Amino acid sequence: MMIAKVIVDIPVKETDRPFDYKIPLEFESFIQPGMRVLVPFGPMKRLGFILSIEKQSEIKNLKAISQVIDPTPVLTTELLSLGKWLSAETLCPRLFAFSAMLPAVLKGNYKKIVRINDKESLARDYPTLLDILLNKPEMEWTELLKKEPQQSDSLNAAMKKGYISIIQWIKNDRRTYKRIRYITTALSKDELMDVSSKLDKRSLKQKQVLEYFINQESHLKVEITEILKRLNIGPSSIKQLVKKGYLVETTEEVYRDPYADKEIERTTSLPLTTTQKNALAPIQESIRSQTHEVFLCHGVTGSGKTEVYLQAIEKILNMGKEAIVLVPEIALTPQMVHRFKGRFGDEVAVLHSGLSQGEKYDEWRKVLEGTVHVAVGARSAIFAPFKNLGLIVIDEEHETSYKQEEQPRYHARDVAIFRGKYHQCPVVLGSATPSLESYARAKKGVYHLIQLLERVNQRSLPEVQMVDMREELRANNHSMFSKQLFEKLQDRLEKKEQSVLFLNRRGYSTFVMCRDCGYVVQCPHCDISLTYHRKQGMLKCHYCGHQEPYPSRCPECMGSHLRYFGTGTQRVEEELTKVLPEARVIRMDVDTTQRKGSHEKLLTAFGEGKADILLGTQMIAKGLDFPKVTLVGVLAADAMLHLPDFRSSEKTFQLLTQVSGRAGRDKLPGEVIIQSYSTEHYSIIHASNHDYQSFYDQEMQMRYRHHYPPFYYLAMITLSHTQVTKVVDTAEKIADHLKKGLSSGAQILGPTSSAIPRIKDRYRYQCMVKYKREPNLLSLLKRIQEHYPTGTKNDDLKITIDLNPFLMM
Ligand code: ADP
Ligand code: ZN
Repeated sequence: MMIAKVIVDIPVKETDRPFDYKIPLEFESFIQPGMRVLVPFGPMKRLGFILSIEKQSEIKNLKAISQVIDPTPVLTTELLSLGKWLSAETLCPRLFAFSAMLPAVLKGNYKKIVRINDKESLARDYPTLLDILLNKPEMEWTELLKKEPQQSDSLNAAMKKGYISIIQWIKNDRRTYKRIRYITTALSKDELMDVSSKLDKRSLKQKQVLEYFINQESHLKVEITEILKRLNIGPSSIKQLVKKGYLVETTEEVYRDPYADKEIERTTSLPLTTTQKNALAPIQESIRSQTHEVFLCHGVTGSGKTEVYLQAIEKILNMGKEAIVLVPEIALTPQMVHRFKGRFGDEVAVLHSGLSQGEKYDEWRKVLEGTVHVAVGARSAIFAPFKNLGLIVIDEEHETSYKQEEQPRYHARDVAIFRGKYHQCPVVLGSATPSLESYARAKKGVYHLIQLLERVNQRSLPEVQMVDMREELRANNHSMFSKQLFEKLQDRLEKKEQSVLFLNRRGYSTFVMCRDCGYVVQCPHCDISLTYHRKQGMLKCHYCGHQEPYPSRCPECMGSHLRYFGTGTQRVEEELTKVLPEARVIRMDVDTTQRKGSHEKLLTAFGEGKADILLGTQMIAKGLDFPKVTLVGVLAADAMLHLPDFRSSEKTFQLLTQVSGRAGRDKLPGEVIIQSYSTEHYSIIHASNHDYQSFYDQEMQMRYRHHYPPFYYLAMITLSHTQVTKVVDTAEKIADHLKKGLSSGAQILGPTSSAIPRIKDRYRYQCMVKYKREPNLLSLLKRIQEHYPTGTKNDDLKITIDLNPFLMM
């Protein structure tokens, strides 16, 4: 008898261990670890992951697996052990860890059908199977196994040989399959000539279409859009001909490659500069000797880091291995995708949130089946199921989007290092502004530091000028543009060069305040001010979605002097059209980029010179490379300096450096203007001097004094409940518990109420642990977690535990 050890989908503490199940005979021949199954658990059937397959079990009267969901494993042996590690390190159930590694489509209840790839071979080797398949198309494959158990061997063998594949059938995903309409004809050329001559003289366009078919090879099938374009006609004449029965219309669904319709120019390796060669050499050595090492590639914007990654990957491909490249919020950086597609073409799968579920599944499957060797993607692409990894690159490694803010609360960097060790391959972290944690590790020699401190081809970094907006006010300039910025914008317009205007919006929302009594309109469910959305005339809460119309009177004093404050991109755009009416402006923010593809469209338009000024939020800070941009203006550099987050200086420095890097990337030199109300702040001063080292030194002193990372580790415990007494009570008990369980070196801060004390009517309290070495911490936290199980009902207490937190609110 064969036994499977299965992790079952019941998110209760006692079930986060494997259970034994009997494997029925019909599954024996193909069942493997890493497949998902349905198993009886209590009265229900539940999903489970097979961890391993054993010969015996200590338990008697085992229940049997009811169904095998996957024909081939969806998790590799490596990913199974990664899941175990993730679950232990982030205190989350193993099932969550496994699920996080799979595309969302696999979590749905989709039919799996057998697709025939090679009919001839099937007819030759497995004729009975072919008969069955042809008779029952679209039959669920497990159904097939049940009804035709004697076919299971053939089915497996045929699958291994690639004659058939078993795929998820995603019927309702419009975007996975593109429908193409074709037009063809059943008539011969003579018949066509005949009907053409009988057509009314005025039906010129119809004649033209028939002519087209007469002149082409017989029974040509052509896309409707193609023929309309060629003959420069509208669709009605074709419709007429179809109606008369001369032409036939067909539709076909084609497998869609999200990048196929974009023509991406192929590129070849550039001859490297000496600095680039020196950067590549140690990475290559690690690849060659197959030893795991972490490299921190600190290179200023435009120093040619990406070219180094590309050439390292080329080596990997030549060795028949695979590479993962992580980029932050990839949907926002199409240019990065193009560079990898441009160099490696079909070898590249792209995994990111901008794709439809079906597209994501298809890309993931290419990785699993080994038809691609490079995966470029956002955070979760770190789980790409490659079996022979040779390199992992994390570009912009300092980005906080690499930390997942829900279970499992992992950081992609840690997962990358786990996988790098497993495959004995290098991990390359790249950034112009490395996180303090990584740079400190590099300085200590834990990571191997690589530096590229100059731009390629001696292009200089842009000159940065700081403008104190307080001075502007004193000089009676109430505009949001300083005199300097305005003059330079004008100058660029005259020279027909492009500018980028960056508005740091985080923490700078457009709140509504009463000028008489100072009341700020708040969300009734969350302790946070509402944001004004001008277009709809509504006030919205960005935390719970509550919305209400703009009040005509102050709810507090009933006065009528309500005004909205803060600067939104819309306001900037309005002011721009006032002061520079001739400027063509493209605005990019959440409102203008909601539709799929609109982001890329706007950027393309700007790249083609269809606008003079690109105005936007955070989303334009990263990775854009436009040669004609010679001016970058930052409107409010200090907007997030004062957020209650110990990383706010670091984030400000990183953002300013990144935005500045958008200027002067080609032959034309660039200039940057930074407007701020805190011109004396070190993060702004060092950013304007392109001086990472000084920023690092000063920020490290601050972190040292206040016991923050990288000197200390953090763990954050957040509790929420609808009753404030319940939260405070529990939070105090937990704090006590931690104090007793940890060494005297650990500091326990709190409980205090969170920076946002209430969200969706739930009160929020938190405890923070600062520590250097606490071997007991994980088990202690796990006990706390088990003692206060988090329920799903609204009046349940919720506890989240976040190790190495990035969200401090
Ligand atoms: P980074 O990733 O550090 O910002 P990139 O790799 O994007 O830098 O390089 C900046 C620019 O310089 C790009 O336009 C790139 O094509 C070009 N470049 C990079 N390496 C070379 C090289 N060795 N020779 C010529 N141009 C290069
Ligand atoms: Zn709210």
